Amino acid sequence: MGKYLHKIGDELWFKEEMEEGIGHSARVDKVLFDDEIDHQHLVVFENAKYGRMFALNGIIQMTSSDEFVYHEMLAHVPLYAHGEAKRVLIIGGGDGGILREVLRHKSCESATLVEIEKDVIEFAKQWFPETSNGAFDDPRTNIVITDGAKYVQETDERYDVVIVDSTDPVGPGEVLFTEEFYAGCKRVLTPGGILTVQGGLPFLQPWEPKMIKERQSKSFANVDFYVAAVPTYTGGLMTLGFASDAQYPHDATWLRRRTSANPLEMGYYTPEVHEAAFALPAYIRKGLE
Ligand code: SAM
Repeated sequence: MGKYLHKIGDELWFKEEMEEGIGHSARVDKVLFDDEIDHQHLVVFENAKYGRMFALNGIIQMTSSDEFVYHEMLAHVPLYAHGEAKRVLIIGGGDGGILREVLRHKSCESATLVEIEKDVIEFAKQWFPETSNGAFDDPRTNIVITDGAKYVQETDERYDVVIVDSTDPVGPGEVLFTEEFYAGCKRVLTPGGILTVQGGLPFLQPWEPKMIKERQSKSFANVDFYVAAVPTYTGGLMTLGFASDAQYPHDATWLRRRTSANPLEMGYYTPEVHEAAFALPAYIRKGLE
């Protein structure tokens, strides 16, 4: 039994190690996978409440019950803000949830997913087929297996939106939080392009959004954050980063015109939620100063 599963009485539990002494626990009703894959330790299991869950290196990445929250907010905020994104780059996101949401936009002509771990894609297809929902086989999809930090320094391709759906800044994910990486994202963006990133849990990791802001500000004129409430991410609200050289009004009335031109059935995203998400609670706004 791997290091993240623990016998408690006659039950088996997954215990997340989010921060020192803090983390989500979930009873394991069925183990589907629990082993090292190339760069990371992968656990996939069933839980009665949260459905199918998957964790990398002891940190919950995604659950079938609430993945729509994070994937809708990280994908639709930049795509509705931009309004005519044709070419989208996704760094990480091996579960296919961001890719699925991006491809729902009629304006999207191509979506390139750069994932360091081929096995995550294979496991996601096997254990979470509904998350990618066929997105990996969409004719507009290009999959590149490499380090995202290397890709943005070397590719000749250009993108209207770059979405970084990374793990936390530890292990292989660490390079996706550096100044050089953000400069690389700026390099591959078309004028007025938008970068959105997974920006941590500000209550438990206040240093993360602040670090992202400092590092992205070296390459982007406007760096802001918005929030989403993902039930299975410990610590309350999660921050997502939004950076661009252009100014985008996150105004519900203006966005409503966009969504009515491209109406999509959502579980979390609405133009009003989009606008409100940028109204950061005082402790998060203060933590960014
Ligand atoms: N939604 C999750 C969260 O908020 O933590 C992240 C989901 S996705 C599983 C994160 C992906 O980033 C993983 O599949 C991991 O393999 C990938 N990843 C980590 N470091 C990477 C790198 N340097 N380049 C490309 N992909 C990377």
